[in-house]
Amino acid sequence: MENGVVKTVNAQYKVAVVGGGIFGATAAIEIAKLGVKVTIFERECDLMHAASGINQYRLHRGYHYPRSFETMLASKKAEPEFAKRFSPAMVKDVTHYYSISSENSKVSADEYIKFCDAADLYYKQVSIPIVSSKVAITLEAQEHLFDPNVLRQLLTQELHDANVTLQLQTNATKSLLKNFDFVVIATYASSNELVKQLDLPMQAYQFEVCEKPIVRMPKSFGKVSLVIMDGPFMCIDPYGHSDLYVLGNVVHAIHSVNDGFDPQISPEVAPMLNHGIIKNPTTTKFPDFIESGKQFIPPLSEAEFIGSMFTVRTVLPKRDLTDERPTEVVQLSPNVVRLFSGKIGTSVHAAKNTAEIVSRQLA
Ligand SMILES: Cc1cc2nc3c(=O)[nH]c(=O)nc-3n(C[C@H](O)[C@H](O)[C@H](O)COP(=O)(O)OP(=O)(O)OC[C@H]3O[C@@H](n4cnc5c(N)ncnc54)[C@H](O)[C@@H]3O)c2cc1C
Repeated sequence: MENGVVKTVNAQYKVAVVGGGIFGATAAIEIAKLGVKVTIFERECDLMHAASGINQYRLHRGYHYPRSFETMLASKKAEPEFAKRFSPAMVKDVTHYYSISSENSKVSADEYIKFCDAADLYYKQVSIPIVSSKVAITLEAQEHLFDPNVLRQLLTQELHDANVTLQLQTNATKSLLKNFDFVVIATYASSNELVKQLDLPMQAYQFEVCEKPIVRMPKSFGKVSLVIMDGPFMCIDPYGHSDLYVLGNVVHAIHSVNDGFDPQISPEVAPMLNHGIIKNPTTTKFPDFIESGKQFIPPLSEAEFIGSMFTVRTVLPKRDLTDERPTEVVQLSPNVVRLFSGKIGTSVHAAKNTAEIVSRQLA
């Protein structure tokens, strides 16, 4: 690709993309534009069954990252391209609020306002009835959420239109990949499984086994996205275009954490991992979400539990201080790229970078 123009390469070349999350799927579509044969391998029964389908669905514009200007800038830069590309998946009829806790916040209300000014992020200071007096300040913000189910449909259609072969329920291994000319590893929490098999350098990560409860709120709550910042707090967001909400909690969402090359999943959580909404989970921290959440958002005491989703969040280790979330496109060998996702909005740009590397390598 030169100056945004895709260079076609020999159509006989075969490229494997491992991982059918948003990063793998977007990369596969971009690589297919080079004219090569592209196959996606996804071990689950459909696209976006792991982290891309189980998260807070926020297309970050930067409001979340007052402690990492780099992540704010990367989110702000990436957001318009993603929002335009996947426009039908954007959930637009939502009012967004960011509140700063008056206690134990890593960023004060004044510092947060200064951050928004410096970042040139729109805000309006407001007073809303759904937060308690534990909140020092609330800002109305402009951001988007996305609907994961609409995004899955769009990606499925685009992959079909781009003639990408989709091999679901297929675990990619070294032997399966041996006939491919180029391999893109977009397997997020499982990156090191393949990297190890291919004798390439592994990367250590911090793995967090997370729970995302889905709730129904009273009608009076409104179509509201509310984030309590900045530290061990919480958020509530509409779940796609449905009338349900997804809860986030920096402390209680996490069932276990480990640093290393592979995630450690307890036998209790393992059967529920990446399996959508589990109506009667065998373990749940939902009561803790509500107990801590209602201190800041009193209407949470009326939340009706629908079920919980479980997945693994993977971040670079030792980033707690800044909370930074870089996206990495790393060429591990002449014919292997590892795509590691920071924020979902950066997937379109990362896909273009990846296609550029493939095009250079196979030209
Ligand atoms: C709780 C939580 C909340 C989050 N909230 C947000 C948010 O609001 N906004 C945001 O931007 N980001 C958020 N993130 C981060 C975001 O979800 C991830 O960065 C992103 O979804 C990762 O996308 P991916 O395509 O790299 O990985 P995934 O979506 O995990 O896809 C990787 C795929 O690879 C497959 N796979 C693995 N190994 C193999 C193999 N050997 N063969 C075949 N298939 C394989 C897996 O089954 C999986 O489907 C959140 C993450 C979590 C966990």
